[in-house]
Amino acid sequence: MSDLKHLVRSIPDYPKPGIMFRDVTTLFADAQGFKATIAQMVEPYRFEPIDAVAGIEARGFILGGAIADRLGCGFIPIRKKGKLPWNTIGQDYDLEYGTDTIEIHEDAVKPGERILVVDDLIATGGTAEAAIKLITRTGGDVIGAVFVIDLPEIGGRKKIEALNVPCHAIMAFEGH
Ligand code: AMP
Repeated sequence: MSDLKHLVRSIPDYPKPGIMFRDVTTLFADAQGFKATIAQMVEPYRFEPIDAVAGIEARGFILGGAIADRLGCGFIPIRKKGKLPWNTIGQDYDLEYGTDTIEIHEDAVKPGERILVVDDLIATGGTAEAAIKLITRTGGDVIGAVFVIDLPEIGGRKKIEALNVPCHAIMAFEGH
């Protein structure tokens, strides 16, 4: 785990002063690092029935595609507003920096399907909460949420677990 942590690049004051941006592109670019990241993210779910992975744009797509392949299930994109080609439902959310809207195709999830949410990092949990709401509104059952990085001081993971969605992260960083 500590080896993987060293592959994450930390960029102070990006995209605005006071934010320490945890850049996973350096982790993804490392062949062994990326492989180990996917293996560790998949581990808790290897024996769970899962119908699809829902990845959050954009880094959640890179992770989610690989995780879906390992779990032998489908992949569902959750995208920024206006990007999906078919009918969508949308959900507003607060970011650690700013606000935004994410969308899912209205027919992406069938009622009762068991869905795993994937993103690179959880900070406030606002993005993951919006994704969970979208999937729940389509009739899906979010069985978990998995991240590369948790920022525990911000408390997003606790917020998601309070919604009865178990969370996993393969590493944590102090601070914001
Ligand atoms: P939040 O909704 O506050 O949990 O923020 C999570 C989303 O914002 C994820 O999609 C992250 O990619 C991005 N994000 C928030 N804070 C950071 C950070 N400090 N470093 C890198 N990405 C971040």
